[in-house]
Amino acid sequence: MILHGIAASAGIGLGRVFILRERGADYAAVRYSGRDKERERLRRAVERFNEQTASMAARLGEQAGAEAADILAGQIAMLADPFLLEQIQEAIDGGSCAEAAADGVLSQYAAMFDNLEDALMRQRAADVRDIRARLLELLLGAEGTDLGELPQDCVLTARDLTPSMTVGLRREWVAAILTAAGGWTSHAAILARAMEIPAVLGIGGLLGHVRDGDGVIVDGEAGTALLHPDASAWEAYLARRETWLIHRERRRSGSGRETVDADGKRYRLCANIGSPAEAAAAARAGAEGVGLFRTELLFMNRDGLPGEEEQYEAYRAVSRAMEGREVVIRILDAGGDKAIECLGMDREETSLLGLRGVRLCLDRRELFKSQLRALLRAGAERRNIKIMLPMVTCPEEVEAVRALLEDCKGELATEGTPYDGDIALGAMIETPAAALCAGTLAGVCDFFSIGTNDLTQYVMAADRGCAALEGLSSCLQPAVLRAVRMAAEAAKGAGIPVGMCGEAAADPRMVPLLISWGMDSLSVSVSALGDVRAAFARWTGAEARRVEEEVMGLTSAAEVERCLRSHGPGQ
Ligand code: PEP
Ligand code: MG
Repeated sequence: MILHGIAASAGIGLGRVFILRERGADYAAVRYSGRDKERERLRRAVERFNEQTASMAARLGEQAGAEAADILAGQIAMLADPFLLEQIQEAIDGGSCAEAAADGVLSQYAAMFDNLEDALMRQRAADVRDIRARLLELLLGAEGTDLGELPQDCVLTARDLTPSMTVGLRREWVAAILTAAGGWTSHAAILARAMEIPAVLGIGGLLGHVRDGDGVIVDGEAGTALLHPDASAWEAYLARRETWLIHRERRRSGSGRETVDADGKRYRLCANIGSPAEAAAAARAGAEGVGLFRTELLFMNRDGLPGEEEQYEAYRAVSRAMEGREVVIRILDAGGDKAIECLGMDREETSLLGLRGVRLCLDRRELFKSQLRALLRAGAERRNIKIMLPMVTCPEEVEAVRALLEDCKGELATEGTPYDGDIALGAMIETPAAALCAGTLAGVCDFFSIGTNDLTQYVMAADRGCAALEGLSSCLQPAVLRAVRMAAEAAKGAGIPVGMCGEAAADPRMVPLLISWGMDSLSVSVSALGDVRAAFARWTGAEARRVEEEVMGLTSAAEVERCLRSHGPGQ
């Protein structure tokens, strides 16, 4: 028999059902001992609840991270709501024992949250029910469930799994989690993902179908639980579980510093740098290459321009620091917000829509040739340098640079100077024109790198330096997302690699979109490498595509933000 539910946490789990029964809260025999005594009983129970919850949060934090711990800490804040406590006290004053008063008021609250539209608010119902169950336990002096004593390889099965239930849970003993309640954003889902335990939630009628000890195979990606599997299914899934466990171990230990999603698909995670010294730091931090070397920084704050020799030394140093890993070096991106005094540009030239990036380079050919020669020479040793053009708007610009590159190669060959004859040439996609004509551009480029900082600025016609335009300057604007998707699709269609080096690549909310658009590489600041690597590990391709489909149907950045937050780890 196959049960279907919500695929809440990826992975394969094989084991035996262990049903977590709801804790009893039978207070029928409790007698009302008067207003003051019942109030005092309530006060002590709340005090004990707060102490217990704080220490549970600390334990959960060690097991499953700060995000899971915050869920429990939030329960203390909920119970501290004076209005809620007042209502319980009023029920006591009206003649109810503390148990009946707490049960009545908290059940009402849970029902109220259950009926709300917003999934995140509905999630609060599970918190209130958890608070209610534990408060009743404390009032009645009953024991809680100890998940430290679970049988090995059990498939934890419950109506719902609350954060307090999971404290002490030894994740290596739990093969998977099944619940009747809950969805992608429920606490059970967050906890399962944080602990990397496969989970299928929201299975209708779950507890009517299973019994303790039943054999079950849980597929946390397909959202299925196969009950009473035969030997051949068991064997097939055991092999899949082995592969998944290897990937999980690799992710946990960070071995090889690979960036992989929950399917085990690899992405190249590179660093954005501004100097050769930063390249060494990037290599130490585990960058798999340099995805953007902003060479304009070599030209800034000085009286004269750096010559070919000085540039050659700098580019070769970066190439060496990365020891054969790919190094994408962007040609001088001056103009706009990047003022370079020693270039002597006039006001009109430096405007945001003026002689920027590749336009300026093609205008000052001698200066540009010295950079191209330095790049060709620096690439000779390790052959790991690629050249990237900023501010591209049409194929002619790329073709003009190619022609200049050929001239430089010819000169170097005549001189007998070693150079990389196969050096790759790619374009940044950071103007609307480049995104709109990405298909044509892909025909003349060896790779694309999407520069979301400028792409957002130009698509939204919102100066990236203007604080008042923050809302418009968001990479989550539907227009920007469409432009990015367009560029990625064009690259895929032409069979060239596509990466992202704008700030959006370091935004964990973007990860499901980047995965489903087939990004091959990302380039982020050195400090963001670890977070981005961890964010990718949380997503399978199928989950990412589901979210992408939802996001691309939305019409505002606020909606997109809300949607990604509700699916992401931060909700
Ligand atoms: C971009 O525009 O997204 C980008 C990476 O380049 P910069 O921020 O240097 O303009
Ligand atoms: Mg840019």
